[in-house]
Amino acid sequence: MTDIVVLGSTNMDLVAYVEKAPQRGETVTGREFRTIPGGKGANQAIAAAHAGGTVSMIGAVGNDSFGARLRSTLEHSGVNTDHLRTVEFPSGTAHIVVDEEGGNAIVVVPGANGTVDHLAPGDEGLIASADALLLQLEIPLPAVVAGARAARSHGVRTILTPAPAQPLPPELLAATDLLVPNEHEATTLTGRTDPREAAAALLELVPEVVITLGAAGSLHAARGTEPLTVTAPQVAAVDSTGAGDTFVGALAVALGEERPVREALAWAAAAAALSVQRPGASASMPYRSEIEKQYA
Ligand code: ADP
Repeated sequence: MTDIVVLGSTNMDLVAYVEKAPQRGETVTGREFRTIPGGKGANQAIAAAHAGGTVSMIGAVGNDSFGARLRSTLEHSGVNTDHLRTVEFPSGTAHIVVDEEGGNAIVVVPGANGTVDHLAPGDEGLIASADALLLQLEIPLPAVVAGARAARSHGVRTILTPAPAQPLPPELLAATDLLVPNEHEATTLTGRTDPREAAAALLELVPEVVITLGAAGSLHAARGTEPLTVTAPQVAAVDSTGAGDTFVGALAVALGEERPVREALAWAAAAAALSVQRPGASASMPYRSEIEKQYA
């Protein structure tokens, strides 16, 4: 089994579904409200656990009902939460308004996630025991850098999702083994809109890159190899929230099992294709048996 540690965010998504989003000063009546556990860190942890990894999460939740639900959602998915701290801050929240056309407006309040700005005692030991460390950018950068460096010093593969898109400090790039941006993030990082050109530019910074291309699949590039494109299964997508996180979680598991790159990418694409056919992020993350069936 692949041993995976995720260092990252947990958020409760508070989603109001409306006909039309309100303008400033306006009040509208919504159709429906849902609270959905999320945050890129938690999503990747759940995706990797469902895909068959042994997963631990490092992060923080608030001492409130959202925090309790975020923790229990992770545990229910089999994620070890011994290193998920409960702090005297509100849990991270994402306030989302989804209109009838599927467009959305989002306010993220980091809350407890903002306290994850360093590694706590014991975190490095946990990271050292893993096959891979999954990182994103929804917690303070100093912790992301510290995690990547700890992993690097113990020979643990670091896989970074550079989201939300922002410039990456050299010390983080220096400790990143595999960078997995979507097209938008790849463009933000390189100024290139063509994925092949963006991948070539990113290889100047890190040794291996996978750019996810939505319904078009993904592009793999590594120093000294030919770029490789793997298509995504054609499916009817209803909600692509968390597709990238599902992809990364499954990819980490497959790479940990030492599957060849092409096979690992196709397996991750099978997992992500299943997730986009179902509403919600964490709730839509497929289990290993389902991924195997879709992959076959
Ligand atoms: P993000 O969710 O981070 O924006 P992408 O949109 O690139 O990332 O999606 C990540 C992966 O999810 C893709 O590489 C692909 O495998 C899968 N995926 C996304 N949208 C679809 C879709 N409409 N049909 C099939 N697979 C999809």
